Amino acid sequence: MAVTALGDALYEVETDHDTSYLIDLRSCRCSCPDYVFRSVRCKHLRRVAIEITEGRTPPPGQLAVACAVCGEELFVPEADADRPQYCGTDALEPGAFVRDRETGDRLLVVAVSDRRADRTEVGRSAYSVATYPNNRSYDPADRVVGAVYPQSIEMTGSGPEPDALRVYSFPHARLERVSGTPA
Ligand SMILES: [Zn+2]
Ligand SMILES: [Zn+2]
Repeated sequence: MAVTALGDALYEVETDHDTSYLIDLRSCRCSCPDYVFRSVRCKHLRRVAIEITEGRTPPPGQLAVACAVCGEELFVPEADADRPQYCGTDALEPGAFVRDRETGDRLLVVAVSDRRADRTEVGRSAYSVATYPNNRSYDPADRVVGAVYPQSIEMTGSGPEPDALRVYSFPHARLERVSGTPA
């Protein structure tokens, strides 16, 4: 029996006989004949409970999505399921070195926000991070990552150049984690 979380505490159980039943975990109901006509706690309800307990199916309030980079299955809050999600390996954090998939440039991540690309303006331009040239093929709901060009952080005698730490905003998916230090 295959279990799929549909959101809103609803689950679909597909039986071996090509039949599907709908389970509402909030009210503990199933659409199968056993439950509907005999009011017994059917095997579908039990199966959903087992799958959740064993971590194979997301609990109510969460949905299963694929990591936007590697495809690994992740359980995330329902409200986040329509945005790109990243597994522990592919999620970026401040200090991560990355490669810009568009230009090949190496950058250093300095901030990872929860803001959507289509709701974040680029400086005083008319663009958002989502509509900025080179960013339009990425998901507008992707989160915004701030990064700097490490080679611009040239130290002068009195510290970094005044203009050195200019932070550029990118959709998360445009930056690919790389190992090591920038050239
Ligand atoms: Zn049932
Ligand atoms: Zn991943």
